[in-house]
Amino acid sequence: MTTYQAIRGMVDILPEQTPLWQSMETAALEVLSGYGYAEIRLPIIETTGLFARSIGEVTDIVEKEMYTFDDRNEKSMTLRPEGTAGCVRAVVQHNLAITPQKLWYTGPMFRYERPQKGRQRQFHQLGVEAFGVATPDQDAELIALCRQLWRRLGVDDALTLEINCIGDSADRSKYREALVAYLSEHRDSLDADSQRRLESNPLRILDSKDPGTQAVLEGAPSLPDYLDAATGEEFETLLQYLAELDIAYTVNPRLVRGLDYYNKTVFEWTTTLLGAQSTVCGGGRYDGLVALFGGKQTPAAGFAVGLERLILLMQALDINVSHPVDLYVITADTAALAHALPRIDALRGEFPELEIVQHLGGGSFKSQFKRADKSGASLALIYGEAELAASTVTLKPLRGENEQRTIADAELVSFLSEYLNEVDSA
Ligand code: ATP
Ligand code: MG
Repeated sequence: MTTYQAIRGMVDILPEQTPLWQSMETAALEVLSGYGYAEIRLPIIETTGLFARSIGEVTDIVEKEMYTFDDRNEKSMTLRPEGTAGCVRAVVQHNLAITPQKLWYTGPMFRYERPQKGRQRQFHQLGVEAFGVATPDQDAELIALCRQLWRRLGVDDALTLEINCIGDSADRSKYREALVAYLSEHRDSLDADSQRRLESNPLRILDSKDPGTQAVLEGAPSLPDYLDAATGEEFETLLQYLAELDIAYTVNPRLVRGLDYYNKTVFEWTTTLLGAQSTVCGGGRYDGLVALFGGKQTPAAGFAVGLERLILLMQALDINVSHPVDLYVITADTAALAHALPRIDALRGEFPELEIVQHLGGGSFKSQFKRADKSGASLALIYGEAELAASTVTLKPLRGENEQRTIADAELVSFLSEYLNEVDSA
């Protein structure tokens, strides 16, 4: 018989994990709304050229990681490997950047990479993009927003900020020349990938993890020395804002990021708890991208959080979501069930926050109680023959010390209100 498995690198997020995802998503939504960012929902497929142009033809993503295919009309399509390109496309298409525009989105991204812990072929990002502000207060706000989110999730102690300024394209081309001149002298000491990049994308060599290449880089010219004076001052202002916000950072002059559209500020939040997949969030400024896509020149900046890595970090820190208080409803027979149904239905309306599980499929009290215990519910509501006759309900705590008690049907709502208050304040 044929059995089916998920495709390599495509991961099922199982019901035992979704509560953690949901609590993370809820926290993110609250933080983002609190800063005035609005959600935008974007297609998962875009034309291939959109990514090739913005991310860059000679980047890892475009060269070897994209899921690209011809549709039935023989047009080249790509499953989005990241969200910024599609977001900027939408901003230009719908003319959203006339006034400053602050947006976020979340969803799956696709990259054909070697799957490992924290690296998948389908993974999820939370993307945040701000359009229309050229000054470093915008960069500071994005970074402060990240820190609020880390705090809300309880992971702020485990993340550190690395930041750099990569200037504009004129600064970078001056620097590129100097870097290529220096590295060419040491060509034989570079790893094969870096030798190849010497022609295609030399700045990416700064990112190489190869020890030989790293040693060569020790003596390489430094990008910050090639920045235009005004750009350098803006960067200093940003660093001052971060200091005022008490956000610790390390300036890493070799931080370049893997996408071509960045300019000026780039940053990453990294952790030591996830092994090689240490970057949880990356972002920066991309002042040229709106114009590249045919829009009016519009400054912009943003970042993307890798949600699987954020979840792994929460798990590494033993952050759990508390189980909700909930009820398990047990009935003696079909008559008792018929009696209970409208009462339970009314409770659902009264207490939408309460998880109420109605036992389905019948069976003995004993088997129903077994199920109730297993469900993790804190309270069983029991409608037996006696309760049915007297219009009462029995409440049996499934955990803790409290005694079982029987109350009139009419008292149930007020009893549960009180019970919930007690649990809340406990
Ligand atoms: P890396 O250097 O780890 O490959 P990247 O520079 O390619 O990351 P970005 O394109 O900046 O990553 O994406 C932003 C974030 O998305 C990353 O910091 C990471 O948390 C997450 N991410 C990127 N690729 C993957 C992947 N294949 N699986 C899981 N998360 C990913
Ligand atoms: Mg990558």
